[in-house]
Amino acid sequence: MIDFKTIRAAVPTIQAAKDYGLDVGRHGMARCPFHDDHSPSLKLDDRFYCFGCGASGDVIDFTARYLGISPHSAAVKLCQDYGLSPGESNTYNAYIHQSYPNIRRFREDELLCIHILGAYRKLLEDWKERYAPQPDSDIWDLRFCEAMKSLSTVDYLLDCLTIGTLEQRVAMVDSLLVSIIPEMQERLRKEDNAHGRADQSGSGMGGGQEN
Ligand SMILES: [Zn+2]
Repeated sequence: MIDFKTIRAAVPTIQAAKDYGLDVGRHGMARCPFHDDHSPSLKLDDRFYCFGCGASGDVIDFTARYLGISPHSAAVKLCQDYGLSPGESNTYNAYIHQSYPNIRRFREDELLCIHILGAYRKLLEDWKERYAPQPDSDIWDLRFCEAMKSLSTVDYLLDCLTIGTLEQRVAMVDSLLVSIIPEMQERLRKEDNAHGRADQSGSGMGGGQEN
């Protein structure tokens, strides 16, 4: 695998941000996805910096945080998506547009899958703690059971989407969109309705995932 320095040099943060679905406006400003931002406070160029919440870093930090994956997975993903490999001249525009004319559409679908899987994963993590069996009760909460059952599957799917080859990811996204993702969306929507938005602040990105 290629070193982080090469990735940073090859892919400007602003480019990855746009490609991964962030709406970047004039002067490289965007509404910050890392805090509740009402006007564009995030400045993107080679790196990123948010005037609102102070989030900052390079393209790997951005990708990891934005997609909710580890820095290592983000580096692997950037290499995959921008066709970076050791010993070649790595400019991001060496990308695979020619072999996948619908790549933009695919990326949007893929990002949707990653976001939904990430949100569902967070819900499961929460259930796993909140509804863990108590010593004095012999009934297990169904939500705890669902968490125990599904967390590893969700992790597996996220891993595949992060580090699979393009062909594998295209096939996986196609099949996820048929039923799994709509089911999860429904699940998340019900949960949202049931609890309102319990935690607006703070808990967002950040400490989340380790792999
Ligand atoms: Zn911010």
